[in-house]
Amino acid sequence: MIKENLEKIKTEIPKDVTLVAVSKTKPNEDLLEAYNAGNRIFGENRVQELTKKAEELPDDIQWHMIGHLQSNKVKYIAPFITLIHGVHKQKLLKEINKQAKKVDREIDVLLQFHIAQEDSKFGFDFEEAKEMLESDAFKSYENVNIRGVMGMATFTDNKEQIEDEFRTLHNYFQVFKSHYFKFKEDFDILSMGMSGDYDIAIEEGSNMIRVGSKIFGERK
Ligand SMILES: *Cc1c(COP(=O)(O)O)cnc(C)c1O
Repeated sequence: MIKENLEKIKTEIPKDVTLVAVSKTKPNEDLLEAYNAGNRIFGENRVQELTKKAEELPDDIQWHMIGHLQSNKVKYIAPFITLIHGVHKQKLLKEINKQAKKVDREIDVLLQFHIAQEDSKFGFDFEEAKEMLESDAFKSYENVNIRGVMGMATFTDNKEQIEDEFRTLHNYFQVFKSHYFKFKEDFDILSMGMSGDYDIAIEEGSNMIRVGSKIFGERK
């Protein structure tokens, strides 16, 4: 069913929206089924699982780290990671920069914002991010490339609330783009939307969705 699920989602979403297939907890054979159906972008949220899968699966997969990343684990993914979605504090960005430098790479990252009403979700608030972007330390991070922003809406049936949270994130994206990244053409990723809310996210301007259960089935 994985192939069918992927194809169905791909026909539903606009061509300029990137689909990240979230394969956390799923076995390699499930990822290979998606791979053989043409998918090359996979999202994982645990470093150990991610590095193991990256070793075992084809080299042309683009791995996205979508989960909560601890600073002491950055070194394990720095050599190969394509995009880190969840940069939620300056300390983490600094460490990514340090590890990227060690392996002579520039690593693409997204700033995660806390837009939900739940405390359990991580992220900058607007002022915090502004402060960081204006700091001298930030200007010295030459091995990280800020590609955009990411966020998660509250887990709720209230469609208006979800719309409102995604709209807030889109607004942050535009404000940061015009204030800090005006001449940086590759500040262009707005990562929002999961299985339950990606349709709303796309209506609100998302161009990268992270979809797990709707492709691979429910997780245990
Ligand atoms: C697990 C996860 C997803 C995918 O969730 P589904 O509801 O299964 O689509 C997306 N984003 C993040 C950050 C996740 O942790």
